[in-house]
Amino acid sequence: MLPDVAELQLLFAQYNNEFFAGEIPAHRIAFNGRFGNLAGRITYKPPLIELSSRHFEKHPEALRETLLHEMIHAWLFARGQNPGHTAAFKKKMRELGLTSIYHDLGSALPRKESTRRFILRCDRCTLEVLRKRRPPANVSCGRCSRRTYDPRYQLRVLEVVETVEVTAQPRAASRGKIA
Ligand SMILES: [Zn+2]
Ligand SMILES: [Zn+2]
Repeated sequence: MLPDVAELQLLFAQYNNEFFAGEIPAHRIAFNGRFGNLAGRITYKPPLIELSSRHFEKHPEALRETLLHEMIHAWLFARGQNPGHTAAFKKKMRELGLTSIYHDLGSALPRKESTRRFILRCDRCTLEVLRKRRPPANVSCGRCSRRTYDPRYQLRVLEVVETVEVTAQPRAASRGKIA
């Protein structure tokens, strides 16, 4: 069974004290039932960690590792460091005894990462659109309203995103080219 959000929040506080000297500012932690191949996702503005309810219902044992993974991103970001999968990220992973982020890729090279991304989200219908660049301030949901701009359905902008993909099976290194 999945822990509830209060339990997740408690785990976050516990890990923060135990492994990060309490340096990570408060994050909202939520389950997202709409993630397809994502196990987890973090946005830094606002500070939000989302975990796939579908994935962790099936693999509750993987929750700790995914939460810690996201927390390393949050910790680097809080320290003003590059929050991507940098050498500092990997060093912290080793300290926490987490397996390599690239274990799922075999010997293949990691995929090219883009760390600056934006999500436009409609809180009403949960539509999400990913953007590389910062979207204009006033954009509303085209699904909820046909008007060019309808302030009632203004899309919320989530900024700087990193994701953890579901890795059910180890992928063969030879399978396809990884950009
Ligand atoms: Zn909508
Ligand atoms: Zn990551």
